[in-house]
Amino acid sequence: MSQDCLFCKITAGEIPSKKVYEDADFYAFHDINPAAPVHILLVPKKHVISMQHVDDSDAAWLGKMMVLATKIAHENGCRPGPEGGFRLVANSGVEGGQEIDHLHLHILGGARPWAKRAAPAA
Ligand code: 5GP
Ligand code: ZN
Repeated sequence: MSQDCLFCKITAGEIPSKKVYEDADFYAFHDINPAAPVHILLVPKKHVISMQHVDDSDAAWLGKMMVLATKIAHENGCRPGPEGGFRLVANSGVEGGQEIDHLHLHILGGARPWAKRAAPAA
């Protein structure tokens, strides 16, 4: 845990969030400023700054995170199948548009049109 990290504080329950999923390694909650009808953030409990800070030793938990993202999407309003679907976004670094320096996946979905706010989707 990083002392001054917002998402570490959220996963630890020190800052309230609308939780949709939790296990020993991951935590998922609704984005406070949704850009789509479904907008969930999925984070590892381990403090990892971004996708620029992972290597081969992280492949197993990153794979689990991707599989978990689909499960969370389908259980929280994203329609399965080719006519439904969802978008996964991992902003990384300043030029990637990352605001919170704790690795996270945006899970975006639901009926179109989505909000114009383009940050996670640009
Ligand atoms: P980033 O730009 O780092 O990829 O995305 C950070 C996301 O975190 C943004 O979509 C923003 O709305 C969301 N966010 C920022 N602060 C909070 C907060 O305190 N609670 C929740 N639930 N989401 C937050
Ligand atoms: Zn953190």
